[in-house]
Amino acid sequence: MLLTKKQIKRYSRQIILKKIGPIGQKKLINSSVLVVGAGGLGSPILMYLAGLGVGNIGVVDHDKVDLSNLHRQILFEVNDLKKEKSKIASIKIGKINPDVKVNYFQKKLTKKNINKIANNFNILIDGSDNFKTKFLLNDYSIKNKKILISGAINKFDGQVFTFNFKKKGSPCLRCFFQTTPSDDLLNCEADGVIGPIAGIIGSIQANEFVKETLKIGKSLCGYILIVNAFNLEFRKIKLNKRKKCICNRN
Ligand SMILES: [Zn+2]
Repeated sequence: MLLTKKQIKRYSRQIILKKIGPIGQKKLINSSVLVVGAGGLGSPILMYLAGLGVGNIGVVDHDKVDLSNLHRQILFEVNDLKKEKSKIASIKIGKINPDVKVNYFQKKLTKKNINKIANNFNILIDGSDNFKTKFLLNDYSIKNKKILISGAINKFDGQVFTFNFKKKGSPCLRCFFQTTPSDDLLNCEADGVIGPIAGIIGSIQANEFVKETLKIGKSLCGYILIVNAFNLEFRKIKLNKRKKCICNRN
């Protein structure tokens, strides 16, 4: 596949990067990713993936746009209120980059439907706001040897995890959380959340996607990135694989 003149122009500022180049750009065009959650994290993730030229994007979200979402979910505007998030997200992606093929799923991701929905995607990006979905994605990704880039936000805080289950030795979310924590940890409704932290964490997740897809840079796999936007602290902490974890059973 040769890049068209239009593609060369469109992606020129990233093609010029030595670590990407035309070969990297073609890889991005041929890549596929499923984004779970089209909210605070999903908004910047999807917008940057569209900009990057990722050829095939899936979006899952069961929710509708609410007025209280607009301070952080930058994909949406007042005209979108009460409309289905996944559908609006797919329309917005198409406006940013009509070359991207988008599949949207206006439903909750469950044990029953995850195989069918996630099967065709190599990399999964978690922008969900609850631990049930996070662990579902974690367990599915281990079983099916996928790459999972997981993000979480609360108040002024955020975390990013990259798990590469294609390789042996990747820890998983359950290595970190040995029991399922309460969703209060992710509760924007009760605790609040500052809009820009969604942008910071979601943007890092999109950047991790590029690195994992092109196998460039230093992988976050094996670490947790902890961001405190209030004191402006970024910490990278080693995350070891736990012996008794389900990720060690295969
Ligand atoms: Zn584990």
